[in-house]
Amino acid sequence: MSSLSRFSIHTITNRPWPVERCLKAYAAAGIGGVTLWRYNFEGRNPAEVGRWIKDSGLVCTGLARGGFFPAPDAAGRQVAVDETWRAIDEAAACGAPVLVLVCGALPGQDLPESRLQTVDGIAACVDHARAAGVRLAVEPLHPIYAGDRSAVVTLGQANDLCDALGSPPEVGIAVDAYHTWWDAALETEITRAGRGGRLFSWHVCDWRVPTEDLLNDRGLMGEGCIPLRRIAGWMGAAGFSGFSEVEIFSSRRWAMDQDEYLAAITAACRRHCLPL
Ligand code: ZN
Repeated sequence: MSSLSRFSIHTITNRPWPVERCLKAYAAAGIGGVTLWRYNFEGRNPAEVGRWIKDSGLVCTGLARGGFFPAPDAAGRQVAVDETWRAIDEAAACGAPVLVLVCGALPGQDLPESRLQTVDGIAACVDHARAAGVRLAVEPLHPIYAGDRSAVVTLGQANDLCDALGSPPEVGIAVDAYHTWWDAALETEITRAGRGGRLFSWHVCDWRVPTEDLLNDRGLMGEGCIPLRRIAGWMGAAGFSGFSEVEIFSSRRWAMDQDEYLAAITAACRRHCLPL
């Protein structure tokens, strides 16, 4: 078994490549899995993409993303629920076991209110997810995104959200190293999530110093200050045995030759990440 067989790559990491190219290149590199992004379905049928994944020998580890539940009125919140239902259907069609949820935030709306609206939004999706055989992974984002992307900014808040929903087995958490590494309560909250059977996904990249762009300057593993092996150790100790998913938004890297970049990614996986 390749040492990379328990690694997966988010297609957005190689954004210049169409999904077909990602699948071929990841499989050829010995990577074991792929997480799709919904833009991969533009002009394509999700079920067909799912067949391509099977044919490539890769495992589909997830689909990003649904959510963005807070809205100023009920009609707006319903739009978000409808869109997340569509994303659940796409996940089922392409064989993704998990749909990643970015919860959302509304500039000018209090964060506690946005969290309540997020609980209601997810609650409206649980039955649909269960029927589709898809699990929903709440991804807490770094607090720099609290203004407009996610009112859920710590793993503790994600655990609280799961508690507020009554801990349905279909709802868990995506722990992304980029968003959570700074948190003094991280180990404790990973343990808590593990006890609840909520550790669905583990996303890796690195935090560059200085970070030059709040969205698109994520680092390749080993290029920044995140203690990836230590956090992966906590994930493993808490019972997580899934894939390590490489997810890097980087304008610098998207401008590179993507074959060379993929070689750098696989080298970084071997050197800086603990396969779980
Ligand atoms: Zn992530």
